[in-house]
Amino acid sequence: MKAWRLHAYHSPLRFEDVPEPQITEPTDVIVKIGGAGVCRTDLHLVEGVWAETLGTPLPHIIGHENAGWVAAVGSGVTEFRVGDPVILHPVISCGKCLSCRAGEDMHCENMRFPGLTVDGGYAQFIKTGERSLIRLEDHVRPDDVAPLADAGITAYRAVRKAAPLATPGTTVTLIGMGGLGHIAVQLMRELGSADILAVDTDRVRLDLALEYGADRGVLANHRTVEQVRDLTKGRGSDIIIDFVGTDQTHAEAMRMLRKGGTYFVVGYGGVLKAPSLDLINNEFNIIGNLVGNYTELYELMQLYARGKVRLHATKYELSDGWRVLEMLDKGQINGRAVLVP
Ligand SMILES: [Zn+2]
Ligand SMILES: [Zn+2]
Repeated sequence: MKAWRLHAYHSPLRFEDVPEPQITEPTDVIVKIGGAGVCRTDLHLVEGVWAETLGTPLPHIIGHENAGWVAAVGSGVTEFRVGDPVILHPVISCGKCLSCRAGEDMHCENMRFPGLTVDGGYAQFIKTGERSLIRLEDHVRPDDVAPLADAGITAYRAVRKAAPLATPGTTVTLIGMGGLGHIAVQLMRELGSADILAVDTDRVRLDLALEYGADRGVLANHRTVEQVRDLTKGRGSDIIIDFVGTDQTHAEAMRMLRKGGTYFVVGYGGVLKAPSLDLINNEFNIIGNLVGNYTELYELMQLYARGKVRLHATKYELSDGWRVLEMLDKGQINGRAVLVP
């Protein structure tokens, strides 16, 4: 089959012929890729950001936002058949460790992560496990929903944690209206009752956020903090969800959070520094977020199937993979990009 593989960090992926994945364990499932979402984490992988943490074996097929059709099942698979349309929870979790038993797939002690630690979905086929599959409703196409497997679930987990705090009269500020942010706006509209401020450096993305349900768009500039404080009568934002995660957004968030407020960190790469005096004096809560669990992806797919959340995505041929990653790097992708074999 054709696949994009990473051979060396800091150099382009190669589009090449590789062997198709094979069933080796009873719970294995081979999925024919219908769509593979393109994610900033893929760029970070190429840059070697994850090299030490994950020890990804090279060459490696990247791609961790996958949906398609079941193509083959192991002897122990009971709930899925060849031809079923599915979206893949991004990790293969063991189902036996304490974290799995608590429903937290992302904390699995024996986790494999296709696209990060084992071969992923920039290919015609991918191998996963039965536990990772969610069957799609008949009217839902795999190539339409692939980015929900990571961008969507990650936005959903953060919003779901924040929603109980997003009571009437509160303000939630969403920083970054890209692939995750535009989904988060819709989810916050659906699950919370707060006023929603959308922050981005780009007018087009802010317009999209307003269309998706944000109450106000804040054009990010040197006065971002002042703008948010002005829009909250000087109090600051009760909730901030940061989909960017740079030194700058971390620092700004600490200056525009209301006393007792909660800062959800989703985007990553920067260093968050805050005087401990500010934390205790303002009773700030800071919460990290990593993708989401199986149930959260299931719930998100329920919302999608009912038309409660839309995905702004553009489809490209699988063979365009590297060009699309370069476009993402240059900020030329609006919403999300999907590779279709
Ligand atoms: Zn991702
Ligand atoms: Zn486990």
